[in-house]
Amino acid sequence: MAANHLYDSLILPHAGKDACFLRQDGKPDLTFRDFAELSARLAHVLVAHGVAPGDRVVVQAPKTIQMVALYIATVQAGAVFLPLNTAYTQDEVAYFVGDAEPRVIVCDEASEGEIRQIAGDATVLTLNPDSSGTLTDGLDRHPDTFDTVARGPGDLAALLYTSGTTGRSKGAMLSHANLVSNAEALCDLWRITEADTLIHALPIFHTHGLFVALNTALMAGAQVRFLPAFDLDAIFAGIDAGATLLMGVPTFYTRLLADPRLTRERTANMRLFISGSAPLLAETHTAFTERTGHHILERYGMTETNMSTSNPYDGERRPGTVGSPLPGVEMRLTDPETGEPVPEGQVGMIEVRGPNVFGGYWRMPEKTAAELRADGFFITGDLGQVSADGYLTIVGRAKDLIITGGLNVYPKEVEDVLNDVDGVAESAVFGVPDPDFGEAIVAAIVFEKGAEPDTGPVEAHARDKLARFKQPRVYRVMEALPRNTMGKVQKNVLRDSYEG
Ligand code: ATP
Ligand code: MG
Repeated sequence: MAANHLYDSLILPHAGKDACFLRQDGKPDLTFRDFAELSARLAHVLVAHGVAPGDRVVVQAPKTIQMVALYIATVQAGAVFLPLNTAYTQDEVAYFVGDAEPRVIVCDEASEGEIRQIAGDATVLTLNPDSSGTLTDGLDRHPDTFDTVARGPGDLAALLYTSGTTGRSKGAMLSHANLVSNAEALCDLWRITEADTLIHALPIFHTHGLFVALNTALMAGAQVRFLPAFDLDAIFAGIDAGATLLMGVPTFYTRLLADPRLTRERTANMRLFISGSAPLLAETHTAFTERTGHHILERYGMTETNMSTSNPYDGERRPGTVGSPLPGVEMRLTDPETGEPVPEGQVGMIEVRGPNVFGGYWRMPEKTAAELRADGFFITGDLGQVSADGYLTIVGRAKDLIITGGLNVYPKEVEDVLNDVDGVAESAVFGVPDPDFGEAIVAAIVFEKGAEPDTGPVEAHARDKLARFKQPRVYRVMEALPRNTMGKVQKNVLRDSYEG
């Protein structure tokens, strides 16, 4: 069989094993052998529909194990996997399809009509929540082995679009080596082994659920309890059944904390809770430790870089920080204006370099040139600060930085102060155009259920704790902050919806 860097790292080492890989409620277990055979059959289907090495395979489908196998099938066929958020509308999918020009599009039967209208030359196949559909029809007719297409470390494995939190999503070109090196680093750092059982409740169209969670489980030969979506009952059932590992976004942890079933006894068998994709409030981290004795391990990454930093496994997992660069990853903080390194301890633009960093944005040479420096460092767009002992704190996105009266205000600093007030569940601070100051600061406040929605004490606390130029000019009470599927607060939505 030809060498295929990603396939050989993730699938080959376990392909013959009869140990359970994917476990799902109400469905038979899938062993590593079953999974490899399913992937091979799907690779035959792709090739039968004309998928050649380098072709893109777009998938906008419900979370199923067949979709996981389709990812591996695409890799095995030497093609490029391109999953899309299931929430995207026809117009949005039209943009991605126009941009990526896939050979095949796989979608839910329910949206097949809409997808066909925008599919162009691509073949449309269906994959439904119950795993039926034209993709899997007659699958058994195909052989359960496939001649893996040769792919080297530098070849493209996936085209993953960013979440679109700050603007239009960009296609990040991820190579076999990007994915393999990151999975290796994470398995090592987080000690993931075949003795682990991961509770998988994340979507699989995003780097977190697809690569961080599944590539590491595959590489380590760990078992996966595969949930169609986040569901507290199912999470507790998984914990009770002997799971050892949970990877989640911060909202998983706030929802777990709101459930009285979360106790020290109940989570005694768990080895590790990991959080990422959005900032985990230090309060959440601390409350979780008080309740369970577990220190959530927070890490930081993005579509373009895979994971870049992580809190340690053995050392202190410091609340409010994302730890230090992964082995093999270099990080520096620079002045966004000049690109020069900032003095120690100061806020700067986070730049990273290493085998984890993508090759560029798909068909966006100017954007690639603007964000990937000639020396290989990628300008992440996130601002951070490193403590004397090496812990990185994300201060926020450069695009969210507020400049008011010529002074920089980091929203997170203000939010931390507002969140301290009793009754405040969370807040989001953002800038809006202001004729006098350039930008004026607005705070959106969400009060806890049952708390008096009175901003008076919040304003008083801000006056007490913050320099005048950092104090919000306007306070707005909201039921909830606008968030995307990955739990990220959409500040552009807040800015756009602010009138007056
Ligand atoms: P777009 O680039 O399209 O605007 P996006 O940046 O949200 O969207 P992703 O690649 O999914 O798309 O998200 C990466 C971003 O998520 C990071 O740049 C960072 O801002 C944020 N992030 C990830 N992990 C953490 C974390 N642990 N703490 C704070 N922020 C995080
Ligand atoms: Mg981004």
